[in-house]
Amino acid sequence: MFQKLYKIVMSDVCSLCDAPGLPGLDLCHACHNNLPHNHFCCYQCAAPFGTATNSALICGRCLDKPTGIDHAVVPFLYRPPVDYMIKRLKFSEQMQFSRLLGDLLADAIEVSYFQTDDVRKPIGSDKFPDLVLPVPTHTERLLQRGFNQAEQIANTVADRFQTTCNTGAMVRFASRLPQSTLSAVQRETNIRRSFDVKDPAAVAGMHVAVVDDVYTTGATARAITRKLKSAGAETVSIWAVARTP
Ligand SMILES: [Zn+2]
Ligand SMILES: [Zn+2]
Repeated sequence: MFQKLYKIVMSDVCSLCDAPGLPGLDLCHACHNNLPHNHFCCYQCAAPFGTATNSALICGRCLDKPTGIDHAVVPFLYRPPVDYMIKRLKFSEQMQFSRLLGDLLADAIEVSYFQTDDVRKPIGSDKFPDLVLPVPTHTERLLQRGFNQAEQIANTVADRFQTTCNTGAMVRFASRLPQSTLSAVQRETNIRRSFDVKDPAAVAGMHVAVVDDVYTTGATARAITRKLKSAGAETVSIWAVARTP
């Protein structure tokens, strides 16, 4: 218990191996070096390209079926130890991982916006987002888990950039249909119906950065993007910690 409290209160101790952490980060140099980066990926959906490339900008899937997403920052692959950190946060309520994951995501955002001349950013998304919006969770899940991990990560990111974290603009409803019995198209429609913009004035004309822990099929990101754009959002970026291949 004391160890747990100590870790929450004290920063700069590696959350994975207890070695001294890098300045301002709960991760040591060795563990930081082992992170599975998603360097070469599609700028809209962050799908990893597999090979190093400076020319490929957008993947075939996004070309065939435009997602509406303007830009994505998803710095890691969903592999050890990042998958472990996300699972620890989500299922074991080890809240120190929300700060660590948020810090790692914020580092990547900082590089993308302020430390590189990222030519891949389309017009509109080169301007820093006006607000951060965590992917909402539905009330039942919130009651079960007690927190929304996307919101925890988004708070850390918003703090770093002194940006508003809006948790009230969008809502999510629990689906009554078991996803496994639906076709891909039905599933997509079902996901889209589960989100709603409650406060369109908060997103109209804005560049909204949607924050999540993992980007998997992209159905959630596409659904939210569509809803935000229908509500008048000008630009939508997706910021997630990890990408499944
Ligand atoms: Zn370590
Ligand atoms: Zn793509």
